[in-house]
Amino acid sequence: MKQQTRAIYITVALLIALLFIGCIGIPLISGSHFSVKSNWNIIAGGNDKGQGTKPDDTGKNAGKPDVLTESEESIARRAALKEDLDKGLFILVNKQNPVDSSYKPNDLTAIKYFAADRSEVGRYLRAEAAEAFNLLSETAAEEGHQIVVTTAYRSYAFQSTLYNNYVKIHGQQEADTFSAQPGKSEHQTGLAADVSSPSVNYQLTKDYINTPEGKWLNDNAYRFGFIIRFPKGKEDITGYMYEPWHIRYVGKTAAKEIFDKGFTLEEYLEKEI
Ligand SMILES: [Zn+2]
Repeated sequence: MKQQTRAIYITVALLIALLFIGCIGIPLISGSHFSVKSNWNIIAGGNDKGQGTKPDDTGKNAGKPDVLTESEESIARRAALKEDLDKGLFILVNKQNPVDSSYKPNDLTAIKYFAADRSEVGRYLRAEAAEAFNLLSETAAEEGHQIVVTTAYRSYAFQSTLYNNYVKIHGQQEADTFSAQPGKSEHQTGLAADVSSPSVNYQLTKDYINTPEGKWLNDNAYRFGFIIRFPKGKEDITGYMYEPWHIRYVGKTAAKEIFDKGFTLEEYLEKEI
């Protein structure tokens, strides 16, 4: 009888234990399983290649749509660059890539801020670049710096006169280091401008980078879609000496990437576009 009673007690205890696990334990395990699966689906769905990132053991990535955001940014970047490419903002004009003598942009627009003693015919940029420069100049002024255009657009004929004068004074070899032969100047694209400030008496000089205006331009031009086109140390790539005053409009997306990566336009077009 005693053994039978003990067996009954043990059976009842086991039944109670099983009921306890059945009510509490199993839902916990199930809940955990579905939770992980749910997170995995969200992350996997966010990747445009259809390959998700497995949630790690710490649950750090759980529920965070990082991959989704990055993918959207990448798509937006491609769209912005395509738009700027179609607008002709990445036109490359240098010693190896001349532009036709008859090339003239059809949307040249007068800029608002310029050095008063320079030729009036050089006070134009393509519409979008002119608007961007006006904003650059106004923002610089708000921060205490006067930055104005000395020459922006130059026609083929204008560049011919300028270059031939430099050759007469300096000889061709020297002239070629700082002045473009006609057809090889990006000033003809209406996307480039030489700028200066009162602190260097509106001259174009390497000392510009040592002035507050030149530093501001160097650090902020990209915010308005411009790059310093002939950077220091890249003379072998651009074919020109360092010109802290020569800015080139490429649109905000490319300008920021060029600024962040320290590229020239030549390197950027080869590696990124
Ligand atoms: Zn220039």
